[in-house]
Amino acid sequence: MIPSILPTYSRAPLEFVKGEGSWLLTADGRRFLDLGAGIAVNALGHAHPALVRALTDQAENLWHVSNLYRIPQQQALADRLVEHTFADTVFFTNSGTEACELAVKMVRKYWYEKGDPDRIEIITFDGSFHGRSTAAIAASGAEKMVKGFGPLMPGFTHLPWGDPDALRAAVTDRTAAILIEPVQGEGGIRVLPDQDLKALRDLCDETGALLVLDEVQCGMGRTGRLFAHEWAGITPDIMMVAKGIGGGFPLGAVLATENAAGGMTVGTHGSTYGGNPLGCAVGCAVMDHVADPDFLAHVNRVAGQLRQGLEGLVAAHPEVFEEVRGSGLMLGIRCKAPNADVVRAGYDNAVITVPAADNVIRLLPPLTLSADEVGEALARLEKAAIQVTAA
Ligand SMILES: *Cc1c(COP(=O)(O)O)cnc(C)c1O
Repeated sequence: MIPSILPTYSRAPLEFVKGEGSWLLTADGRRFLDLGAGIAVNALGHAHPALVRALTDQAENLWHVSNLYRIPQQQALADRLVEHTFADTVFFTNSGTEACELAVKMVRKYWYEKGDPDRIEIITFDGSFHGRSTAAIAASGAEKMVKGFGPLMPGFTHLPWGDPDALRAAVTDRTAAILIEPVQGEGGIRVLPDQDLKALRDLCDETGALLVLDEVQCGMGRTGRLFAHEWAGITPDIMMVAKGIGGGFPLGAVLATENAAGGMTVGTHGSTYGGNPLGCAVGCAVMDHVADPDFLAHVNRVAGQLRQGLEGLVAAHPEVFEEVRGSGLMLGIRCKAPNADVVRAGYDNAVITVPAADNVIRLLPPLTLSADEVGEALARLEKAAIQVTAA
């Protein structure tokens, strides 16, 4: 008999009843160190007082009105994002997937309005993840996501990751856009080197193709800059954001330049919930913290400590681990043992990590992680490694 929850997830036998900062508590009082943060969502940890206040204050006044009316919280969050980024304009969604949908529509409409409606080819990369809608799975092209769901939305060309020659050959004056994660998340924490992102920007400038960055996982302070592309000193034309921006409240956004957004006029797109007062009140509170240079300095400091510790851990347990990779507090450990075994041993030692492709375990802790908690994380991961070795 089919379970009452559609069985598309294989869930760990863990149930949490409370969150406090970097910690998750079970009903029987066990405390887990949360290095997953709901897959890079709880950027300020669990139950951050500023977010609780923003949400409850808003909840006492007004939950929802629809986008038929002005929403001051949405205006404030859009203004703040425009102030801190390349973007001239923002559309709010409820998820990363919806941000992907709009990004694809925006690209197509851009070329349509330029009088080039057949210019629809969007280049994407192996190992990418952009969400689970029909457009987003077509963008990724990964067999495990698309199999059985055809016919797929046309217009995507998939290239190997990290192959500049293949890229140069594929990008032509027919290319509508290049869509890429500056750091692949689901694909196994694969960092696009700064010079490759710069080269992508140059290619787009040469051909007129739009550069679309998916910063759903790597954005909002995760890599130690507000957005990951800032490390390369370039700017995209369009950017997808979600996960961390709501700190746990469902919120996403598409940021764009005035030029790239030129086709999106009244009536061309919409959302019932996107940008509603609750989500945007929380988003403003998240931005207050994450856009603060002192906060980002903390992220970089703690990330350096964690990375250094992990390098030592990997060196000490070569039978379990292979290498550390990533950027800021978006770290991956490529495992020699099956990554699922390492994640499970983590549960046994009350530390939460997230599996990814390429036999990687991801560490995506709250950005508020403390130096003490870094030590705690390393100690628990070490116990997990010892357990995997003994098994
Ligand atoms: C999670 C993720 C998405 C999809 O976001 P949802 O909110 O799950 O729809 C898209 N792109 C990247 C890079 C992601 O990590």
